[in-house]
Amino acid sequence: MSKDDDVNRRSAASSGVLSRRNFLKVSVTGAAIASAGGLSACMIGPMAAGKTTKALALYQDTPNRGRRCGGCTHFREPNGCEIVAGAISPNGWCRFHEPLPA
Ligand code: SF4
Repeated sequence: MSKDDDVNRRSAASSGVLSRRNFLKVSVTGAAIASAGGLSACMIGPMAAGKTTKALALYQDTPNRGRRCGGCTHFREPNGCEIVAGAISPNGWCRFHEPLPA
C-alpha cells in the first residue's frame, strides 16, 4: 500500500466520520423540525383556535366521579372552555379537568 493510498483511506474514513456526524446533526435537526412541524400541524387542525376537539379531550356531557366542568379552572361561563372547542356543559367533564383551587 502506497502512502497516497493510506492518505486517501484516512481521508475517506475521515469524511465517513464527518458524514455520520453530519447525518446525526441533520437527523437531530430533522427530528426537531418534524416535531415543530407536528405541532404546527396540530395547531393548524384542531388547535387552530388554541383549542382541542372534544373527541381528543375525551369530553363527555356528564360528570366523572364527581368532577365536572363547573368545578374546573378551564371552564368559562356560560358554556365555554379555554382548552376544548365548542359548547361545554357545566356538568361535562374531560381528561384535562383541573379542579378549582380550594
Ligand atoms: S373539564 Fe375539560 S372541558 Fe370541562 S372545563 Fe375543564 S378542561 Fe374544559
